[in-house]
Amino acid sequence: MSLLSQLNPSQRDAAETTNGPLLILAGAGSGKTRVLTYRIAYLINQLGVAPWNILAVTFTNKAAGELKDRIDQLVGPKSKDVWTGTFHSICARILRYEADNFDLDRNFTIYDETDRRSAMRRIFEIHNINPEEITPRSVISQISKAKNSMLSPTSFSSDGEDTPSRKLISELYTSYQADLHRNNALDFDDLLVETVRRLDANPSVMSSYQNRFLYTHVDEYQDTNRPQYILCRQWSGNNQNLCVVGDDDQSIYKFRGADLRNILDFEQDYPNAKTIRLEQNYRSTGRILRAANEVISRNKSRKGKNLWTKGDDGDLIDVVECESDRREAKYIVQTMRQQISSSKYTAGQMAVLYRTNAQSRSLEEELQRSGMPYTIVGGTRFYERREIKDVLSYMRLLMNPADDIGLMRIVNTPRRGIGQTSISHLQRYAISNNINLFETLNNLKNIDGLNSRSINNLNKFYEIMVFLQKSKDEVPLSKLGRLIFERSGYETMLKEDRSQETENRIENIEQLIAFMAEHEETNPEANLLTFLEEVALMSPEDDTSDTNNAITLMTLHSAKGLEYSMVFVTGLEENLFPTARAVEESRENPESIEEERRLFYVGITRACDRLVLTHTNQRYAYGNLIECIPSRFLKEIPEELVSLHQELSEINPRSRQTRQNRFENKQKINFQKPGKITQKKPNLSAKGVHYEWDEGNQVSFGDIIDQDDFLAVGQWVRHASWGRGQIVAREGTGDKMKVSVQFGPHIKKIAVAFAQLEPG
Ligand code: ATP
Ligand code: MG
Repeated sequence: MSLLSQLNPSQRDAAETTNGPLLILAGAGSGKTRVLTYRIAYLINQLGVAPWNILAVTFTNKAAGELKDRIDQLVGPKSKDVWTGTFHSICARILRYEADNFDLDRNFTIYDETDRRSAMRRIFEIHNINPEEITPRSVISQISKAKNSMLSPTSFSSDGEDTPSRKLISELYTSYQADLHRNNALDFDDLLVETVRRLDANPSVMSSYQNRFLYTHVDEYQDTNRPQYILCRQWSGNNQNLCVVGDDDQSIYKFRGADLRNILDFEQDYPNAKTIRLEQNYRSTGRILRAANEVISRNKSRKGKNLWTKGDDGDLIDVVECESDRREAKYIVQTMRQQISSSKYTAGQMAVLYRTNAQSRSLEEELQRSGMPYTIVGGTRFYERREIKDVLSYMRLLMNPADDIGLMRIVNTPRRGIGQTSISHLQRYAISNNINLFETLNNLKNIDGLNSRSINNLNKFYEIMVFLQKSKDEVPLSKLGRLIFERSGYETMLKEDRSQETENRIENIEQLIAFMAEHEETNPEANLLTFLEEVALMSPEDDTSDTNNAITLMTLHSAKGLEYSMVFVTGLEENLFPTARAVEESRENPESIEEERRLFYVGITRACDRLVLTHTNQRYAYGNLIECIPSRFLKEIPEELVSLHQELSEINPRSRQTRQNRFENKQKINFQKPGKITQKKPNLSAKGVHYEWDEGNQVSFGDIIDQDDFLAVGQWVRHASWGRGQIVAREGTGDKMKVSVQFGPHIKKIAVAFAQLEPG
């Protein structure tokens, strides 16, 4: 059977169109990713193209891994020479290969979010900036935005209004870049920006990549930002054999700079582009597909498409009204248990999706009680654990002695009697001599202010590092991991403290050492640098254990590109999904709701056979019951596709009161009548948008857009005077954002721009 006979005629046309720019624009589940893999197989098997002349880029390591597996199934071992990866990993590879040409030190460190913030805090200290006035976090986020728009510190300062705050940010941006340079480090955004910049500045290197990448493929093109867009142009170069695949209705990463125009204007950017649309959906039942089509048809800024399926209508979509979020979790877990016990679906075929990470908590508690296997995508990340970051910092410093952030993390971990005062002396000396902190350790005698005890302790640290540096080139990777654990004194420190927590920490480090061994086994050219790079490029979506036979819990953002037989989309309530922020912003800019609606579309279309949508009447948020009203999105599904259920428990005295209010205020879900799609303005009373709290504060709930957001409702934070507390609500955006934090029995409302809140 020929390879392409497993595709329908339009898919086949797409796979066979190998010359010139090609846009495959199609809805969810129409086989876009499948076409991409078959096209690559066709190039290799049928046209005899060398695998190393083919590039295939996507957004998460998990998706890239799947792409590679699927190509492997079609072409066998040749697949390993195809350039597959995420934008970030391909860029990291190019930067390392071309380090000499690009005037870079090959051993650069890749800064994660924590490293970025530490660097910025240090810059605040040096510049004497009061963190009460502006937080390191908000500066970092503005710098990241600037980078995603390809604005350098200079162009940032001349772009936009000339306000004092913009001037300050641009100064901090300049210092931050200088700091990265001094530490031989690049942050995540730099991987893209620096590749663009340096390829541009080196025409001969650029043309060597253009000669190498004869066929460039990009999946999920609708989520590319400015640097990614330019990279696609650079890579596909003169031949313009660029095949991009995407769905404008699934663009959901605007907050990371994704620009929908990249896909909508593809035909303008590449005038000789061919566009192929795929209209047959192979994933979902007729009813699920219709619901998805009806919902997304309300968005104005879209190309519009018509998806159909040959499959059955399938079951009705369950819409379940739950008394509370607890009840919602119970219902979902019970329903999943029934599926497993009646052998309808296995755990691995089911997924629960939610808008914000904080919603996973009650689900997780119920699941733990049930004993069913589950996995949370993007939960507490292994590589973010304290002990793992500590051990990795030793490795980073071995690879890149200029990594001051890494050094500061471990110079006194475990404790070696090196205090903050000694470190300040080192820092001062490093700055005035323009050297890095590690180099100061070789000059201790010349540094003012250090007493002999400190010199002694710093020397001990230096000796450990020199020993490990020597071992780095002599022993296998996993052995090096163990040496670091032992010689640094970390193992002794943990073993002396025999609490359950330290047991877990020892296990985690053992796990890390096992990963190093595995990395060594699977990569013939493995070394410390390749291992650190793999770790640095991990995205939250990748940090999953065995997902094959476990229920998957994840945010809607993480679910893109995946499919499950049975899908639950939870928390369909106003101000949660869509978020309060989107509701607020939509008053001025209706597109804010459109991005949320696309996210709902992504959620619906993950389901093959069964879809369950839940909403609650009350959410219990840290000591407070909040009344909820159903999401406007529920009303956009035609009534005939839906089966309504209620999950209401006996009412306790407190909820009786709130229930009473609810009946007075709540709008009933008003399902759309078949055949009528009207573009209605959201009709929400002010009561529906804001909730009254005991203190009389008007605060909104569930306003979270980013899973990495540490100011999300439910997160723990630390305040300089009030200590540790939990965020119960949030309102406003940007500099006007305020969060309500529960510190013990008190709730304080805090203006984020003026208080230094840290993750707690
Ligand atoms: P998304 O927009 O969610 O990323 P997609 O368009 O990339 O979806 P795929 O994941 O490639 O869609 O395909 C969806 C499902 O349909 C997969 O299970 C795939 O194997 C199946 N499929 C696609 N095309 C065909 C075909 N021609 N014959 C049989 N199955 C197909
Ligand atoms: Mg896909």
